[in-house]
Amino acid sequence: MKLPDKVRIQGADWEIRADHEQMDTDDTYGQSQEVHLRILIDDTRPIDRQRACLLHELFHAYQSMNVAPKQRLTEAQVKFIAASLFQILSDNPDVARFICGLEKEVP
Ligand SMILES: [Zn+2]
Repeated sequence: MKLPDKVRIQGADWEIRADHEQMDTDDTYGQSQEVHLRILIDDTRPIDRQRACLLHELFHAYQSMNVAPKQRLTEAQVKFIAASLFQILSDNPDVARFICGLEKEVP
């Protein structure tokens, strides 16, 4: 599955764009640009990195719409929460489907 091109966060449509050129450093895989409602993902990274990075950036995006800058989670906290959630959901697709309400109907 390819990178989605948008995500709705609390009624606002954020653009998701593959972009390698705007990454600041070699260990930057993505950016959330709250002013532009845009998330950039480095599409030169392996697909699992892109997936984990998108989840990470979604936390930043969600926070930007709900939490004053001084009260936001630190980068380390976002990394921990996003990485742990990514591992749990990736390794447990039934749990992910249940949480999202996508579980299969049993006839
Ligand atoms: Zn971050």
